[in-house]
Amino acid sequence: MSRLSIHTLCPAPIRLAGVIALAAGLTVPTSPPESMAEQPTDAAGQVAAAKEVDLAEHVREWTATEMPGLVTLYRHLHAHPELSLQEKETATRIAAELRAAGCTVTTGVGGHGVVAVLHNGDGPTLMLRADMDALPVVEQTGLDYSSFVKARDPAGKEVGVMHACGHDVHMTVLIGAVRYLAGHRDCWRGTLMAIGQPAEERTMGAHAMLEDGLFDRFPRPTYAVALHVDAALAAGRVGVRPGYTLANSDSIDITIKGVGGHGAYPHTTVDPIVQAAELVIALQTIVSREVKPTEPAVITVGSIHGGTKHNIIGDSCHLQLTVRSYSDEVRTLLLAAIERKARSVAAAHRAPEPEIVVAEGTPAVFNDRQLATRIEKAFRRALGEERVTEAEQSMGGEDFSLFGKAGVPILMYRLGAVDEPRLARYESLGRPPPSLHSATFHPDAEPTLGTGILTMVTAAVELLQP
Ligand SMILES: [Zn+2]
Ligand SMILES: [Zn+2]
Repeated sequence: MSRLSIHTLCPAPIRLAGVIALAAGLTVPTSPPESMAEQPTDAAGQVAAAKEVDLAEHVREWTATEMPGLVTLYRHLHAHPELSLQEKETATRIAAELRAAGCTVTTGVGGHGVVAVLHNGDGPTLMLRADMDALPVVEQTGLDYSSFVKARDPAGKEVGVMHACGHDVHMTVLIGAVRYLAGHRDCWRGTLMAIGQPAEERTMGAHAMLEDGLFDRFPRPTYAVALHVDAALAAGRVGVRPGYTLANSDSIDITIKGVGGHGAYPHTTVDPIVQAAELVIALQTIVSREVKPTEPAVITVGSIHGGTKHNIIGDSCHLQLTVRSYSDEVRTLLLAAIERKARSVAAAHRAPEPEIVVAEGTPAVFNDRQLATRIEKAFRRALGEERVTEAEQSMGGEDFSLFGKAGVPILMYRLGAVDEPRLARYESLGRPPPSLHSATFHPDAEPTLGTGILTMVTAAVELLQP
């Protein structure tokens, strides 16, 4: 069967771009649409803008027709969440959807990772990524498609499971965008690579996929693009930021050692709780006194556990820290300073050396500046100026950064997820909307998916030019 007989053509106005160009005194082949890079800026800009408005209109119409099916898929994914490293059924569904769209699909890449490839002639390779895992959160949204799923966490404890970080939106947008692009192959040239990534919340999935040959066994991307829902941005809007957008994120475990004994005879012991108390305060001076004030940095002690009873001095006390920064220099400074403070507190108390383990580190997301600027312009043309904002820098972490560290120019942008009336209601109540990871966070599916698909397709068509 010929390609044209099974795939819809590009919207007519896009194919007419060549005609518009001829009218403007330019020479442009009519099909496929060529890059406008070499043409006079003004006329080319107008042609590109006209082309994208028409594409945007067509994607909007297509998405409106497809929306019932997309919402059903979204609700299914939302109601059947799986924890990091357990995304078996989710990956099976995503693989099936991508296969049905016409992609060549490989499963089991770096655990439950899915890689779908769609070749469409010569041109660049674009990787679009969606993460697939959910969180150990008991859903409290009260939605009729809420999750009631329970699972065992890594410690073997039974927990509720919820897509509280919007990864269900990310997957549905990816499927929608791939369906559109697969059905409209004369809008783009090159290779589309859509991946379903496992274990983002434990910052293990991107690493595992790269280790399993993501960029060797499959085409090495020229660019990689992903989005993340934003719980405080209005649906219909997106946020883009060139450069650093998400932070270096490191988890640190410190086990402070002591010499246990009776609480009434402290002189016969070395108290780990007093050391821990001193250390927690000492850590607060690293950001305030050692890091340059214009450099973002966070040290949070999120957990502290020690002792068993009123009158017993224990042998140890365990602290868990999350450490955030943007630059490599600040990251190195923070980790070294934390270790120095922990050792010096122990030494001051004549205690055994503490045990310090740095784990689950993920580097900051650095959006390639040229790529971000190019896509931001395309988004402004597709959505309208006022619907594209500069994303705020955040101290959250994301392992999408690793694809950038592997040498591929990356862009992660934010997708507004709460509709305007609901945002206005929160504002009138004087409180912020529930944040990501909250048990009451929920996106307004239709406007969020619509804008997600429109922007993903816009980015793909912009980047996949002959
Ligand atoms: Zn998350
Ligand atoms: Zn997330």
